Amino acid sequence: MTKLLEVKNLSKSFGGVKAVNRVSFSLEQGQLLAMIGPNGAGKSTCFNLINGQLKPDSGSIKILGKETTGYKPRQVWALGVGRTFQVTATFPSMTVLENVQMVLLSFHKRLNCVTRTVSKLYADEAMELLKLVGVEEQWNRTCGILAYGELKRVELAMALANNPKLLLMDEPTAGMGVKERLQLMELTSQIVKSRSIGVLFTEHDMDVVFAHADKIIVLNYGSLIAEGTPQEVRDNEEVKEIYLGTCEVKGKE
Ligand code: ADP
Ligand code: MG
Repeated sequence: MTKLLEVKNLSKSFGGVKAVNRVSFSLEQGQLLAMIGPNGAGKSTCFNLINGQLKPDSGSIKILGKETTGYKPRQVWALGVGRTFQVTATFPSMTVLENVQMVLLSFHKRLNCVTRTVSKLYADEAMELLKLVGVEEQWNRTCGILAYGELKRVELAMALANNPKLLLMDEPTAGMGVKERLQLMELTSQIVKSRSIGVLFTEHDMDVVFAHADKIIVLNYGSLIAEGTPQEVRDNEEVKEIYLGTCEVKGKE
């Protein structure tokens, strides 16, 4: 089966700092892959290389079997890669429904219709997505007044409006309460499985990671130091050492 994402020997330096150093990993359909590691480990750089925001110094990236190394963000997006941001990126003065409609208009290449009858276009489809993420009751409120957890859900609906095959989520639950985090990842997990898409996410709440990731990769100083199931990573001595004192690797007494 073609891998959704295949990264080989990916490297990127900033001056003398090897932000990402010969990193290789892959991701399959229906899989939630967590990328973890301390601050500065190279997680965001890795994301930005995959989504085209940065160009790698060396190495290769394949999305759905297609070589995308050096692609621009728009070209990566066109292949069916959605992303959510650490800081939410909605239009605050537009309603929840309109925000999702905008993405649908863009997806269907009908952005020229925005000034016309936008209120009707793709409204049903947008509503279905809001239902899926559980914010349908907020459909007519502007995004600027939503609670943070609701905004994160709207953002997920916006990412899904693009009908992605691969979702990149950099700290999707940043700034959320504990319960909300687990709920959002539970929802993401259900959607990923039911639509057979794949997710690469970063997250520093280890409870969320160990509860929802199918596979975990661990970065430290730009290098991949461990890879495996949550149990395997939890048992890894180097991982335990890195997290000791900064963030507890839970579940083992
Ligand atoms: P993480 O997301 O795991 O916290 P980053 O990918 O943001 O890590 O950063 C990895 C390393 O690369 C850090 O040492 C950081 O200071 C450095 N870095 C990241 N982006 C830049 C940049 N645009 N210019 C210079 N250094 C950067
Ligand atoms: Mg980061």
